[in-house]
Amino acid sequence: MDKLQFDSLKARLASADVELVAVSKLRSPEAVKPLYDFGQRIFGENRVQELLEKKAGMEALGCQGLRWHLIGHLQRNKVKYIIDFVELIHGVDSLDLLQEINKQAQKKNRKVACLLQFHVAQEETKFGLDFEEARALLQSPAYAAMQNINIVGIMGMASNTADATQVQREFAQLNNYFHLLKAEFFGDRPDFKWRSMGMSGDYELAISEGSNMVRIGSLLF
Ligand SMILES: *Cc1c(COP(=O)(O)O)cnc(C)c1O
Repeated sequence: MDKLQFDSLKARLASADVELVAVSKLRSPEAVKPLYDFGQRIFGENRVQELLEKKAGMEALGCQGLRWHLIGHLQRNKVKYIIDFVELIHGVDSLDLLQEINKQAQKKNRKVACLLQFHVAQEETKFGLDFEEARALLQSPAYAAMQNINIVGIMGMASNTADATQVQREFAQLNNYFHLLKAEFFGDRPDFKWRSMGMSGDYELAISEGSNMVRIGSLLF
């Protein structure tokens, strides 16, 4: 994508008040650098090891002020490698993982922003909570005791299907979960505001169903 196309995408997203996470996975630092030069600062990776390598590689190219999001499934034993710099962890799908994030964040004296990931797609393989699991997590004494995490919204992926009606229905369901949780648990918390949904192939549908954070990879490259 050249600068003109990038600016036009950014303008489209800005008009809907949607944040762009540029998904840099599987691209070299050299391939990602042009996006940085266009002004992009938020980058998403789905694997911890690659995130660390990409971060180092881009810094070596002189990129500063990068804001890293972990968008994929996160294993508990890898939390410690990203905890001192990660800006947002999108894929929180268990109390155990949240406890580990809290524990590591405490060591670094940080408060780390997280999204609860929901499973709404048809595919069995996609990670995520169902709605009652999320409620149970948020009602648990363990969650109440956590001082070093901040849940700022939800994340999800729609089914990988050409059926736009179904994709739209799944995004609507995610948005509905967001509003239900907000009403029950986060009513007075303006920082609980993010709906991370939509990728290259379905971000317009996601925005029409309430997304305000899209994770776009292939379209940018
Ligand atoms: C790869 C990935 C994306 C971006 O997908 P594209 O189709 O390349 O835009 C978004 N979210 C997650 C969790 C991903 O792993």
